[in-house]
Amino acid sequence: MCSLALCAFHLNQSPTETENRANLPRNMIENSMFEEEPDVVDLAKDSTFPALDPDEVAFEPRSSRLLVRGLGQHDMDEDEEDCESSARLLGMSFMNRSAAHRSSSSPYTRQAPPRSCSRPSGRTMIVCVLFLVIVASLTMVMYFLPGCNFTKRGCQRTNKTTPSEQVYPVSTNGELFPWAQLRLPRSIHPLSYDLTLDPDLDNMTFTGRTVISMSVLHNTKLIVLHSSHLNITKATFKVGLEGYKPRQQIAVKFSEELKTGQYCVLTLDYSANLSHTYDGFYNSSYTDTDGNKRVLAATQFEPLAARKAFPCFDEPSFKATFLIRISRKPTYLTLSNMPQAKSTPLLNGLIQDEFEKTIVNMSTYLVAFIVANFTPISSHVSETQVSVYSVPDKKEQTDYALDTACKLLEFYNDFFEITYPLKKLDLVAIPDFLAGAMENWGLITFRETSLLVGKQSSNLEKQVVASVVAHELAHQWFGNLVTMRWWNDLWLNEGFATYMQYMSLQTVLPQLDIGNLFLAVRFRALDDDALNSSHAVSMDVNKPEQVEEMFDSVSYEKGASILLMLNASLPGDQQFRKGIIQYLKQFSGLNTDTNDLWNSLTQVFSAQHPNVSEMMSSWTSQKGFPLVTVSRKGGQVTLTQEHFLLTSDNATQTSSLWNIPVTYVTDNCSLAPECRQMFNLKTKSGTLNELPESVKWLKLNYRNTGFYIVDYGDEGWAALISALSNNVSVLTQEDRASLIHNIFALSRLGRVSFHQVLNLLKYMSNETQTSPVTEALLQLNVLYQLLDQRQEHSLVARMKSYIKHQFASLMDKQTWKEEEEESVSKQELRSALLKMACSLNEEKCIKQARAQFKQYVESNGTLRIPGDLQQVVFTVAAQSNEDWETLLSMYGQATYDAEKRKMLRGLASTQDPRRIVWILKAGLRGGLIQTQELPLVIYTVCHGFAGYLFVWDFIQENWDSLIEKFPVGSFAIQTIIKSATSQFSTQAHLNQVEGFFSSLKERGSQMRSVQEALETIRLNQRWMDKNLPTLQKWL
Ligand SMILES: [Zn+2]
Repeated sequence: MCSLALCAFHLNQSPTETENRANLPRNMIENSMFEEEPDVVDLAKDSTFPALDPDEVAFEPRSSRLLVRGLGQHDMDEDEEDCESSARLLGMSFMNRSAAHRSSSSPYTRQAPPRSCSRPSGRTMIVCVLFLVIVASLTMVMYFLPGCNFTKRGCQRTNKTTPSEQVYPVSTNGELFPWAQLRLPRSIHPLSYDLTLDPDLDNMTFTGRTVISMSVLHNTKLIVLHSSHLNITKATFKVGLEGYKPRQQIAVKFSEELKTGQYCVLTLDYSANLSHTYDGFYNSSYTDTDGNKRVLAATQFEPLAARKAFPCFDEPSFKATFLIRISRKPTYLTLSNMPQAKSTPLLNGLIQDEFEKTIVNMSTYLVAFIVANFTPISSHVSETQVSVYSVPDKKEQTDYALDTACKLLEFYNDFFEITYPLKKLDLVAIPDFLAGAMENWGLITFRETSLLVGKQSSNLEKQVVASVVAHELAHQWFGNLVTMRWWNDLWLNEGFATYMQYMSLQTVLPQLDIGNLFLAVRFRALDDDALNSSHAVSMDVNKPEQVEEMFDSVSYEKGASILLMLNASLPGDQQFRKGIIQYLKQFSGLNTDTNDLWNSLTQVFSAQHPNVSEMMSSWTSQKGFPLVTVSRKGGQVTLTQEHFLLTSDNATQTSSLWNIPVTYVTDNCSLAPECRQMFNLKTKSGTLNELPESVKWLKLNYRNTGFYIVDYGDEGWAALISALSNNVSVLTQEDRASLIHNIFALSRLGRVSFHQVLNLLKYMSNETQTSPVTEALLQLNVLYQLLDQRQEHSLVARMKSYIKHQFASLMDKQTWKEEEEESVSKQELRSALLKMACSLNEEKCIKQARAQFKQYVESNGTLRIPGDLQQVVFTVAAQSNEDWETLLSMYGQATYDAEKRKMLRGLASTQDPRRIVWILKAGLRGGLIQTQELPLVIYTVCHGFAGYLFVWDFIQENWDSLIEKFPVGSFAIQTIIKSATSQFSTQAHLNQVEGFFSSLKERGSQMRSVQEALETIRLNQRWMDKNLPTLQKWL
């Protein structure tokens, strides 16, 4: 999956161009309309499925109450038991909507133990003791039996839970739910799903039938699977089916054991509402150019929402095949992962489309289907038909995506030496879509901004689309073909897809200058990972919210960065490729964990890199990254490593050590790749080969391909600064940008004085390259905003004139015209410089921007603003009352999504309090401003002085609505919290933020992003206390 912020991050448009990530709002859908009397079906009579050998379905289970009775539940009389065993209860168990059950669906609620032993009578004592003994034995059984996953390496316990979690929760029908863990038992493995779906787009509901064919891996009396917000009306098993809502699990219990090696089939009929948020099987709508409202239904399942569309074993390691049928009105079309096999008219005037059975085993989160009236354009890459679908009005915006997808598919087919296995690959732009895109196998779904490119789009917009397409296509191998076993290793999907997206575009579309972008995202990944509240790349994940929280910059950008570092540490550029081909081939169709990757690579690299596993584990198993300090005495250079940890607690020390492939260049040879020398730093300190005394300086982390920060010490920094002020070109632009990034980080850490930062920036008057300039602007802007929001008027004024002075000549050189054949890099530079100039109220910039807007409005949209300048023009325009209104009406009519979002960011940058309040409310309400844009609105509003306090109030007042739309832990919520708090720097604000979030309890107080927010405020506070005097002195 991709959020634009993470897989198509665009520095110039904003550090978080679209920070929205697919979300799984836990909307509570009531199912009362579906209550009906279901009957019990013998599965062997089910014509949709091959009849099974009667011996194989030998169990004829009456209800088994053994577990429940043994645990001290009341005994049931025969009638009650029959009633319990009838499938009628199956539906009822999902219809129980008592207040108690609803509150227990909160993700953070822990169920209390089912029995209390206080005030015991003698009889109760005996029952209690018996109960405890049985719980203990059951716990052991659960732990040793189903928790055991037999692979070729023997028994692996994949369900790690602490004993405190082995408490059997109360299910929807009031009994103990027979499974106590978040992850499903391993005793049953699904082999194939047969899904029939009948969506009703008029009433926004659907019914479905799921037939799951399963294999029994270990003797068991229990099938546990996932289901969420589905009203199950009929099941084939004549047994009790119970639900446990907080974990979205249902269970089928048997009185007799299913035996290892048996095959069995479970059929479940159900009905539900189409989700009104952005996950599960959800409804979406748009208005066409004739003003008609059009509706459609689409899916978004990653990570935990396939269970909202059909009952299933909703974990990535339960791979199976899928055969899908969907009915539709004749005016719609349907799409799914596989090509359509046949269409059958139904008696009710509808048509049922059946898709080919998947030829690959697939995780449930990759299943997808769409019912809409989209139109396609298509092309072929070897045996695969590639199509891009959009709403009919936007068909002419799909050419670029098709062309790019074809080029990239060809590249990946060749690069991985494994041909994309399906006969078709659809890329579909969906009008309502929260994430950037989702890599469903054969049916990739996108936000319109990440797929559609207008005829007059700038190269920067093409860069966004190409990045997202490259990311999602890479997932067809990394993620779809080889899938992480569990969400703790999400980086195996996302880190790889992110790395491949940059790597492939550098080769396939070099004109997009994607290298600058990749460098910038690595800097941001370092910034995020420097916090004490960061986490290891691969970490334990035991709650749904923790699954959501894995979709962050550590899984994506740090994952990609350490793969780049590994690649850069190998000789030649084919080694890494050989290694990942080996990994993909070895685990094709299977699930893996991080060790599988390193072991696979070790087999290939054994000659050159025998310790790849040891080296890389140090980067994936511990949080953070190292600070390498250089100290030099004559020719002897010593390197020391320590954890680069930004923390407000000076006493915090960690003993973490990394295995660092340090690279360095010196003034003797510093530009070409051949200049680069390597040193492996595994211990606390190490000494480089003796350098000639004549060497004036050395620069570590050549082109910033390593994931670490370097401190050169006073003399080292002085030597580099003097070299750069004599000649900018003694280092590559990546190295210059990395010096700028590192020195700001070190200043934040308190290692170098801000005076030293300003010394380095002196060379900037000669800098003309994009990466160093944009990095310096970004860092200075962070400080500028902090000062502005602290209302340090005199310092703000001095900072303004400092920035203007430093970048004056570069700013002056920028034109406002579309240049022929202008490189993306030049556009990025221009956009960043003019954005800064206008935000500092630089007169010439404001005048130009206003003039451009006026021309644009007067020409009725025929004269266009260059794509890379639209943002700055709309932002300046939005500061005037009249133009804000004009912009708003243009926003309502705009059809090109990328341009529309820039208008929205302009609107949200207003400093008028009434408008700020209006736009926040409009985003929350949805409609004119889609709710999917709310995180972007909040992000933008926070960057204006007037807005950031309003946003904080807004978030506190509307928290419950926010977490209904974007679930706790999701990337959208992470963005909202970060935006609203990252500029606070006072004790009063710290207290407020701390107070608010701790009052939330199960509604979000435990989120990592809250810890990050508090830590950031403390760091800001500390930095201000320490550096305000320096700034007074030096600015
Ligand atoms: Zn992804």
